Amino acid sequence: MCGIVGVFGTPFSSQEVYQGLLLLQHRGIDAAGILSYDFTSKDFHHHKDLGLISDVFTPEILSGFSGQMSIAHTRYSTIGPKKSLSNQIDKKRDIQPMMINYPFGIGMVHNGNIVNYYELKEKLLSEKDRHLFTQNDLEALINLLSDGLSERTKTSFSFDKLKLSIQTIFDQAHGGFSVLGLLADKGLYAFRDPHGLRPLILGERELTEEEKNLHPKNFGKSYCLASESNALNFLGYKVLRDLEPGEILFIDESGEIYSSATYSKIKKIEPRSCMFEWVYFANPESVLEERSVYSTRLEFGKNLAREIQELIARGEISPDIVVPIPETSRVAAISLSEQLKIPYREVLIKNRYIQRSFILNTQESRNRAVALKLTAIGSEIKGKNILLLDDSIVRGTTSKRIIDMVKEAGANEVYFASTCPPIKYPCYYGVDMPDPKELVASSRTIEEVEAYLGADKLIYISESALKKSIASENLCMACINGCYPVDVSCAATFKTMRTLHRE
Ligand code: SF4
Repeated sequence: MCGIVGVFGTPFSSQEVYQGLLLLQHRGIDAAGILSYDFTSKDFHHHKDLGLISDVFTPEILSGFSGQMSIAHTRYSTIGPKKSLSNQIDKKRDIQPMMINYPFGIGMVHNGNIVNYYELKEKLLSEKDRHLFTQNDLEALINLLSDGLSERTKTSFSFDKLKLSIQTIFDQAHGGFSVLGLLADKGLYAFRDPHGLRPLILGERELTEEEKNLHPKNFGKSYCLASESNALNFLGYKVLRDLEPGEILFIDESGEIYSSATYSKIKKIEPRSCMFEWVYFANPESVLEERSVYSTRLEFGKNLAREIQELIARGEISPDIVVPIPETSRVAAISLSEQLKIPYREVLIKNRYIQRSFILNTQESRNRAVALKLTAIGSEIKGKNILLLDDSIVRGTTSKRIIDMVKEAGANEVYFASTCPPIKYPCYYGVDMPDPKELVASSRTIEEVEAYLGADKLIYISESALKKSIASENLCMACINGCYPVDVSCAATFKTMRTLHRE
């Protein structure tokens, strides 16, 4: 997952996308970038680098941006070089936004993955003489758009021509992706993959008098699109709606909005939002598909409690306290504790300066992070039966170490519960779980995972309870049940190449 944000209308668009990006930092910590376009000077401004957003953008760099439309990206690598510390050049090459000069000048950022990226890369070379320079699948998308627009806009530009060019991308690129982009002197475009796997939310606000004075050709409003509603809320935008699956949206230079959401309907493509947004990725204050992440996590706790109550009734477990594993599981742990009428205790203290372990790049860095990021309060743990709650168990690294830590702190028994069912299959749509060998539950029964983790009892929320909590049937659950909504027939190439590029 990555975080993307775009703003159109205010002369402070770059400052706003920067601030919006800060609210999306939890979606990716590898790199960040901003691209703005100034309709007055007809210039692009561009900066990107490896690192956290606040490190990449100093006040001096930010002050160099101008323009009424901007896009920004914070990166979570699922592709491209990872292990080679010396290969900073290759890593930098893959950072977003990306740009291409013809036609008009096109900028683009995306959140997601294209499963058939390597096939598209070959096709672009053999059929269009377009040589891609990076390992980032965004480069295939921007080249496809450039190719489509080049053919269609020789005499004039229109939304219909943009729409047809993007629909050609839908026909060719298989995966989950939300895209934001700029067309020099034309406007800002956005689109969401036909299944709506990756989120994208639209908001608007009135311009202030200061903004109107600074940009006399203003249209009275500014628009913002972002991966999560928390960024829109923070920037003062009223959330209008989620973009529909397969929707193409364009805001032209006069502030007129054009939209087409017919593609998925004509092709009868079912919506499939990624359930992992509610489970792990999204910020609790965000609302996706009109479902509050916070309320959904409360529901996870409530529904999991029903399954745990049965175990307690049968005498299989006897928890004394409910303990969240910070940070994501905290909300679910509160409702789990309330429902079970068992005290809630935060006895695992997080070192706030250590990054989220799941989105760190390598197994080695994840191991180190687990050891550094949590401390157990022994006096509250000693002699007790502890019910730990985490959002999910992906590789099992974090869970195993935490269980060891709680036992070392003197716990009597340690039960481990997860608000996500066993993750058995790789994700090809933007989440970094590419190889079944890395997934602890891929080839183990629940009892075997329990033994591997060293838990006295392992409890997963059921698939039906997960759906009930999110209150949707239109979910992607492929990493749980192997039912992939988008063709993954070329996943073998994708997996091989991705592994190769990490070594
Ligand atoms: S496979 Fe899993 S993580 Fe990937 S999009 Fe589907 S639900 Fe989300």
